[in-house]
Amino acid sequence: MMSRLSLFREGSLMTMSMSSSPTDLRQSTAVADSLSETVLPAVGGDAPLATPALRTAYAVVIVVPLLALIAAIALLWGPGVQPVHLYLLVGGYILTGLGITIGFHRLFTHKAFTTSRFMTAFWAILGSMAAEGSLFIWCGVHRVHHQFSDTHADPHSPHAVSARAVAIAEAHAAKIDAHRKASAIAGTADASADLDHDHHHHDHDDHAPGFRGLVSGFWHAHAGWLFRAHPADMERYIPDLRNDPVLRFVDRFFFLWLAVGLLIPGVIAGLVTQTWTGAALGVLWGGLVRILVVHHITWSINSACHLWGARDYVSHDHSRNNLIFGILGLGEGWHNNHHAFPTSARHGLAWWQFDLSWIIIRGMELVGLARNVRLPSPERLAAKRRTA
Ligand SMILES: [Zn+2]
Ligand SMILES: [Zn+2]
Repeated sequence: MMSRLSLFREGSLMTMSMSSSPTDLRQSTAVADSLSETVLPAVGGDAPLATPALRTAYAVVIVVPLLALIAAIALLWGPGVQPVHLYLLVGGYILTGLGITIGFHRLFTHKAFTTSRFMTAFWAILGSMAAEGSLFIWCGVHRVHHQFSDTHADPHSPHAVSARAVAIAEAHAAKIDAHRKASAIAGTADASADLDHDHHHHDHDDHAPGFRGLVSGFWHAHAGWLFRAHPADMERYIPDLRNDPVLRFVDRFFFLWLAVGLLIPGVIAGLVTQTWTGAALGVLWGGLVRILVVHHITWSINSACHLWGARDYVSHDHSRNNLIFGILGLGEGWHNNHHAFPTSARHGLAWWQFDLSWIIIRGMELVGLARNVRLPSPERLAAKRRTA
């Protein structure tokens, strides 16, 4: 009888206790086996650099959309821009952004709900079009982020540059191992229950001191981390995703979805304007500028939302609820809520915390497209509420 099998950090992203089907149990056992001993991923501020080819690729991915924006603005004085191009920018932002927030993040990384194979492919392809890396890499990095958030082993923390954060990460890994050994002896699978309540609070800012430290921490968390090697043992975090044939298919053809995501706005704009210039501007605004917007808003969840905002719930990191990115980030900016309750399909937990991704998941649930939608119970909400 497996009462609870959570190998991840407190409030775990993959607490399997709620799932009871044989498949889910097999999956959780597979994850358990693969993580039988905790190895600290060598990431964070001191992680080795990625290969030159990968660094070049990321430089292109960062710089080209920026150049596209400059070109798009410059071209306002020439061929200009038509309403269709702005609709494609906004519509493309919302659709591919939701591919990240609903698909890559809440559905695949955190298993906040289940859905059909068609909807799985739909969200996975939309998320791939956001050009934030292939599905497996995105989800693997993000699971590592949750397990080690704001410690030295976090792939993208604005705080993970201090020796203090290193110590916290090492203590945490040691503790997980100790709990596992203890539960193995006791013959239970309950390796994580105590971790829920007994954790390292590190409420002080760990980024290097001063304005320069803040800027370098911000840059590292925002996009600088892309130039570092992926977490060494990232594969161990995603065996459940790799087992899914639909996700394997979408992951393998990442570059195809990327190209399709650039072409579609060009085709639509070309049909609407009936000109080649209009089509090219469609690719520019609905493709490249849209990618720029999605990138920087997503990255702001990693940078700004671990620096500025309210901390309504107890989480063991610096995650914040940030109003601006709550709205712009399609609900993802309620990031302290998310770190406190990672498996929750809803991030904007208060009625006023606008969470477009949740509204759509709820809508999917109402029409039968989303099932097993996970939300924190009132008791858990009350228990984690920060009172001071
Ligand atoms: Zn975070
Ligand atoms: Zn998450």
